[in-house]
Amino acid sequence: MDIPNEVGKRVPFVYDKVLSSFSYGPDHPMKPARLHRTFQLLESYGVFGWQGATIVPPVLCSEQDLLSFHTPAYVSAVQSLSQGNRVAEAQDFGFGPGDNPVFEGMYDAFRWQVSASLTAVAQVIEGGASRVFSIAGGLHHAMPAKASGFCVFNDAAIAIRSLVDRGYRVAYVDIDAHHGDGVQQAFYDSDRALTISIHEGPEFLFPGTGDVDEVGVGPGKGYALNIPLPPYTNDEVYLWAFTQVVPQAIESFSPDIVVVQAGIDAHYRDPLTHLNVTTQGYLETLRTILALSSKCVVLGGGGYYLPAVSKSWTLAYATLLGRETDLADALPASYTEIYGTDRLRDPQADPLEEDTSEYVWGYVRQKVKQLRAKALPLLNKTPRTDEKAQEL
Ligand SMILES: [Zn+2]
Repeated sequence: MDIPNEVGKRVPFVYDKVLSSFSYGPDHPMKPARLHRTFQLLESYGVFGWQGATIVPPVLCSEQDLLSFHTPAYVSAVQSLSQGNRVAEAQDFGFGPGDNPVFEGMYDAFRWQVSASLTAVAQVIEGGASRVFSIAGGLHHAMPAKASGFCVFNDAAIAIRSLVDRGYRVAYVDIDAHHGDGVQQAFYDSDRALTISIHEGPEFLFPGTGDVDEVGVGPGKGYALNIPLPPYTNDEVYLWAFTQVVPQAIESFSPDIVVVQAGIDAHYRDPLTHLNVTTQGYLETLRTILALSSKCVVLGGGGYYLPAVSKSWTLAYATLLGRETDLADALPASYTEIYGTDRLRDPQADPLEEDTSEYVWGYVRQKVKQLRAKALPLLNKTPRTDEKAQEL
């Protein structure tokens, strides 16, 4: 089922080659080239010729924007490292061989990611769009003074901060396989942003946080929700857990805008995680979120099996346009000539084996039960008392 997009309504796709033209190094799993591959697949399908589809290049953000979440010392360290200088505290700031290597030009590369997400936000609050997709965003692990998990600047936290500062209530829904720890931390003591993350549980996967008892503190208590999942979680289990929690939470919170981190590393072929979601499960999750949002800023995120990234994000953009079913399952020749033949949608997954099913359902049911008993009731159901944000 397609969630209809108002006919002719613009759905900006924030993209420019600058967002994919850098590298963390040849052996690093994060490949910015996946963004261009997604762009090529959309172009091959002719999606950019569809009514409402619009490519919007990012507008370079200011250093002040970076400082709305990151510390001045960290931002200047990234600048300095990016120019090839030695920085004594580089390791303390999270840089070094491994997840967050230093490379020349990285300050600009990561600043462009933030720029793309802020451009996406501007398309919604100033540009009249109600849905927008910025595939370069979703770097949800970066901390105020630390690079983490391939993320240097936390574009998602900065984008949400810019909305909250303008008086909007924001719900953040993170469907990446990893816990959205940096974004959660940014708003952990705030009732102006509800953060929800569904991910592989902390005992199985980086960053090792995101259990159900992380619910926020102070005025933010009840405004952080975490749905941890075990390895082998398939579409059926994933969608069950999601629908047990997320619709009720969003309806209670009543956000002005929903920001989605739409990483696709929960995919069953992803080499870094152990969840077994298919393109169909991924799209169903996105459709559920869209049905709950009047305004929706969709960001990218993780995704390390490149064919799944380009296919899933192509399907996602077509879904935002309300036309996913218009995409033929056979990939266009201009794409397969470069990347090989494939189908757009994943085959139906095999059912879980009995022992696995028992384990997976046992884990998930217990976590959801805890969430519904302890975390969800904390979400404030009283009508909003804040000054109403400017009309969207
Ligand atoms: Zn991830």
